[in-house]
Amino acid sequence: MLKKPVRLILIALAAFLIFVPLHGYLSSRNCARMVICISNLKQLGLALNMYACDYQGNFPTDLSLLYPGYVSNLTTFLCPIKAYTSRLNEQDVLKNFTVCYEYIPGLTREDDNRILIVFDRKDNHAHIFGHHRDSRNAAFVGGRVQAFNPLISSTNRQSWEQVWATHQKLLQERSHKSQP
Ligand SMILES: [Zn+2]
Repeated sequence: MLKKPVRLILIALAAFLIFVPLHGYLSSRNCARMVICISNLKQLGLALNMYACDYQGNFPTDLSLLYPGYVSNLTTFLCPIKAYTSRLNEQDVLKNFTVCYEYIPGLTREDDNRILIVFDRKDNHAHIFGHHRDSRNAAFVGGRVQAFNPLISSTNRQSWEQVWATHQKLLQERSHKSQP
């Protein structure tokens, strides 16, 4: 029979050996999903701008208008993290193109490029970061994409809350200007 301290050390060592590779494995899968989500928003941002080039600078009134002419693959509309946790597939996109990504309609290429146009819904990344830690990827008017991730140092970056506040303010100013 092993002495109690030795037994405790062995249990701790076993837990460490099991947990660390498992944690690394899960993290790398989630990391890959995060990269694909960023890539989706880059593609959507480009497609929106290509659409606007064809329609006098106006972005589509609905995200579904990008398919299939500007975005031929329905998985581009799926955040892979949300799709994995909520078991979403291409059929769900056909029913609702904004099932994963929120879209702000009515904007044009002339608008301020600090305005967001398409971005992760609030709970898309919740199972990685938890509901209280807001993590999203977002595309702005103009196509630039930014990741808002609580695990990435935010010392020299704007937080989601700051970017969202600017976005809301600019949208308000815009609606005042367009009123007669
Ligand atoms: Zn996402």
